[in-house]
Amino acid sequence: MKVLNNRAVGKICIICKLEKELDDFYKNKGAKDNCHSYCKLCFKKRSSDRAKILNRTDGKWKLDRRLRCRKYRELNKANIANNNKTNRCIVSRKYAQKNNEKIIAHRLSKNLPPPFDGAQRHHWSYRREHAKDIFWLSIKDHGSVHTYLLYDKDSMCYYRLDTGQLLDTKEKHEKLIKQVLTNSF
Ligand SMILES: [Zn+2]
Ligand SMILES: [Zn+2]
Repeated sequence: MKVLNNRAVGKICIICKLEKELDDFYKNKGAKDNCHSYCKLCFKKRSSDRAKILNRTDGKWKLDRRLRCRKYRELNKANIANNNKTNRCIVSRKYAQKNNEKIIAHRLSKNLPPPFDGAQRHHWSYRREHAKDIFWLSIKDHGSVHTYLLYDKDSMCYYRLDTGQLLDTKEKHEKLIKQVLTNSF
């Protein structure tokens, strides 16, 4: 334990057992020295391990976390946009890797003829077998519909944000679209 002017300035993390500066520990008002008993690195590791487990096992938690992330993104739009500008290459490459199924679906549906001027393709499922099974929406309607949707990578379908229901059939998805377009919930 480091001591400076009779004050402890370091301590040993109970997880990694390394001696670290107090700055390397998150503050914890309940603790004697106002610090957590494990260091920031171990703290982060623990929360990300916990997140991974919950992500696998708890569908409701997963949805809640996505909502929190979405809220965070909305609140920090300006900052994120700025960062994105500098990271544009990385971002688009990551997008391509992460959303491979979306890119494939867009490619597969590219040649379908729009039924009206300005009609946009809307996928209810990004599974390859559904890539051409799309809804046609005006730009405005398309935007409105998406405010109720949250993409789920595992099922390649969307959750509806108002009820948390997974829209894993075309019928369920169509019902939401109708409700949004007629504003009848
Ligand atoms: Zn540690
Ligand atoms: Zn869409």
